[in-house]
Amino acid sequence: MKLILLGPPGAGKGTQCKRIVERYGLAHLSSGDILRSERAAGSDLGKKAQSFMDSGGLVPDDLIIDMMIGAIRKTSSTGYVLDGFPRTIVQAEGLDAALKKAGEQIDAIVCLQVPDEAILGRMTGRRSCPQCGAVYHVVNLKPKKDGWCDKGCGPLVQRKDDTPEVVSNRLKTYHEQTAAVLGYYQSRQSRILEIDADRPIDSVTEAVFKALEAASV
Ligand code: ADP
Ligand code: AMP
Repeated sequence: MKLILLGPPGAGKGTQCKRIVERYGLAHLSSGDILRSERAAGSDLGKKAQSFMDSGGLVPDDLIIDMMIGAIRKTSSTGYVLDGFPRTIVQAEGLDAALKKAGEQIDAIVCLQVPDEAILGRMTGRRSCPQCGAVYHVVNLKPKKDGWCDKGCGPLVQRKDDTPEVVSNRLKTYHEQTAAVLGYYQSRQSRILEIDADRPIDSVTEAVFKALEAASV
């Protein structure tokens, strides 16, 4: 199974991806997570990406396409979920070209729909574990002990780009550059599963699993 998860920042893509990959035995390829580990490792790519990420803009398409196609090629499992990629039409075209060359195709696009008003609270309340990547929320998905990862890794951190100012830039970037990616796939008659993601996390997961099963993906 090869899936793309689309949706605005804070829609719950990472949260739902973790549950999808666990259920179906897929690889989770998150462009944001890969960029953050490149930054932590101090690589050239990480250094180039830094200013774009901190301001809430997009990292240039050529860097992202190479990074994500490389990640897809390196994955050993037969299926994967792309999270946060593609984020522009140029990236979608780059992905299509690489898949076509390899004789592969995406089985479905899961589109998480959440109104802007719900996003700010989700993102400013997000806390992540820098060790294992688990994602929590101070109200909606609390860790067992405040500020600590349930898996015993250590303290949780708040992402630097989850401040109200950067969140507002990221939403603007989403509407200006990323929302059109859905239209790109609609125009290609891709299988699109639209999910109302403005409800509790477990209800969204249930709706995603039901939609995947109903579509026999
Ligand atoms: P994305 O990967 O789309 O940016 P995340 O999965 O990291 O989003 O979710 C952003 C924040 O919102 C996290 O703190 C997460 O716990 C919380 N969250 C995710 N889905 C929901 C939901 N359906 N309702 C409320 N909060 C949610
Ligand atoms: P995310 O973890 O998906 O919220 O991504 C964090 C940041 O990484 C974004 O605000 C962008 O600056 C950058 N980023 C992640 N994925 C992409 C992408 N596909 N294209 C361009 N920039 C990206």
